[in-house]
Amino acid sequence: MSQPDFPHPDARPRRFTVRRSVALGGVLLLVTAIVFATGTAYLWPLYIFPLILAAVFFFELGSLVVSLWLGAFFALYYSVHSAPSSADLRRALLDVALAALAGLLLGRVQRNHHRLQTLLAASSLSDRLTGLYNYGTFVDYLHNEVTKTERYGGELTMIMFDIDHFKEFNDRHGHEVGNELLRRVGAALRGMVREADMAARYGGEEFALLIRGDESHGYELAERVRRAIEALRVPVRDDAEVFATVSAGVASYPTAARDETELIERSDAALYESKRRGRNRVTVFDGSREGGLETSISA
Ligand code: GH3
Ligand code: MG
Ligand code: MG
Repeated sequence: MSQPDFPHPDARPRRFTVRRSVALGGVLLLVTAIVFATGTAYLWPLYIFPLILAAVFFFELGSLVVSLWLGAFFALYYSVHSAPSSADLRRALLDVALAALAGLLLGRVQRNHHRLQTLLAASSLSDRLTGLYNYGTFVDYLHNEVTKTERYGGELTMIMFDIDHFKEFNDRHGHEVGNELLRRVGAALRGMVREADMAARYGGEEFALLIRGDESHGYELAERVRRAIEALRVPVRDDAEVFATVSAGVASYPTAARDETELIERSDAALYESKRRGRNRVTVFDGSREGGLETSISA
């Protein structure tokens, strides 16, 4: 699962794209040829509505193109089949104008729909401060992945991170500097996970990663993240810089946990073992050992 990369809600859908225009133009020409060859203009609802609907999803001005084509097509079709009177031509022009107006309105509806959809997707799936997925998206994804692993095999590893002494960090440097640290941790995580992995802000200053692979992969990644975060610097007043560390807990499914609830509990237990042993370290929940907790020699 790639990390969230939602376009800005105000970003407009593409008004025009060359490749799609060529495709749409080809479809319209084909329909025109078929209708003229078979003389089946009276069947217009059968092909006009799917075309307009398709055009709305092609690009914003696609619906306008189809509507103009529709008006021009009828004018042409009836003038070929009978010599048009000037009243017929006026009516055909009016039809073209009305069809164009309908096309523009459809385009506007499409743009608003797209904007709302982007806004809702961004706000319901991701966390605004860090740009990572949020807790809800994480647990839904975890559920799906555990179900897939149960059916098709393989291993799944969860890593839980918690910033060390973050309350003190906030108290000393201010909440805004704390927020900036959270943003930078979010960006670091986004940059370090692969397309198939998932990174989320699990809680206030807690982050979770879910990756395919066993606990040794999890341990390696957790260690890389721990070192990367330790190296992050946040500017504060007077050109000074501050940093923070994280503790991590790693647990794998199905070796160390029977289901997703246990996977969360065990990575959390491993995280708290890291805290207990002095912080800024990674602990792996070892399913094969009594008690299960093994601290890395990293810190
Ligand atoms: P520990 O090493 O045991 O994890 O200590 P801690 O101080 O990090 O743990 P604790 O859970 O007591 O404190 C977490 C702090 O995280 C408290 C809260 O103010 C802060 N926090 C939570 N969400 C945010 C946020 O969005 N922005 C900022 N700046 N701080 C936050
Ligand atoms: Mg915490
Ligand atoms: Mg903390």
